Amino acid sequence: MRNKYVLEVIKEYEQQQEQVKVEHEKKLSEIYRKFPKIKQIDDSISRLGFDIAASIFKGINIESYISEQKKKILDLKTEKAEVLASNGYPVDYLEMKYTCSLCNDTGYIENRKCNCFKQKLINKYYNQSNLKDLLQKEHFDNFDMSLYSTGKYENELVSPQKNMEEILTHCMTFSNNFENSYENLFFYGNSGLGKTFLSNCIAKDLLDKGKVVIYQTASSLMEILRSSKFGESQDSFEGKLQDILNCDLLIIDDLGTEPNTGFSQSELYNIINARLLAQKQMIISTNFPLSDLRGIYPERITSRIFGNFVMFKFYGEDIRVKKNITKRKAR
Ligand SMILES: [Zn+2]
Repeated sequence: MRNKYVLEVIKEYEQQQEQVKVEHEKKLSEIYRKFPKIKQIDDSISRLGFDIAASIFKGINIESYISEQKKKILDLKTEKAEVLASNGYPVDYLEMKYTCSLCNDTGYIENRKCNCFKQKLINKYYNQSNLKDLLQKEHFDNFDMSLYSTGKYENELVSPQKNMEEILTHCMTFSNNFENSYENLFFYGNSGLGKTFLSNCIAKDLLDKGKVVIYQTASSLMEILRSSKFGESQDSFEGKLQDILNCDLLIIDDLGTEPNTGFSQSELYNIINARLLAQKQMIISTNFPLSDLRGIYPERITSRIFGNFVMFKFYGEDIRVKKNITKRKAR
């Protein structure tokens, strides 16, 4: 199964590279047609490059010759950028636009697999192939704070909006400082208040930064482990578990909705405990109040959560309901 996925991923890279090439050639012929000057510049640049290569065989002072030629190339590149910019094109318009700038869509950096390779495999193993597309729409910039009320809510000290502002700021900091600090987040409160949205925002941000993210609901995570352990799926249990333990960020959505079995409790404990020991970050969310979690899970799980996660309570009116009402009024 793994080999099949590896082959699929390699094929995807070939397609990506081909697409980048086609795209680049299209732009190149457009620009050459509109600005013949740029074609001349490019020709001169390749001639100079050839001269540098050929100079090795000539009995001249190679070092000064090469630096002289390089200076000419640089001047030509500047001239080219100026032509593009003065005609309203971005200066990097003619550069190859790879999806991953770390490995230029080869999947490898020297002999190591790039994170984008690991992520592509994980997306296949965990059925999250559409994760990035799904997340396209959800990012911090379009978080709508006006959906949260500014009035008092039940016995809470601050308004739902003020509360959300604090949570949003914290999530953005979490994402920005992901590499340099260690923290786990726990979101709890009624559904429809933005817990999943914020997890999505963080996931998207980190995927864009080349981090490896596994994002699953508690029930699908347990189902993946159960079926690989008890033989319905051909993948090895150990392989799956290693991915779950080693990915940069593990997001477990909807904690408490998985079947409450001895298996899932012991796997959940193992995952949380191992990631805490390895200082690997996690985000967990649940619709259950904290007091209910104490009833669902044994103390060894809840104590690890309460002691090692920064807890955020989501409260207020259901914003999904509010969103729909606003949409209907707008019609
Ligand atoms: Zn890459």
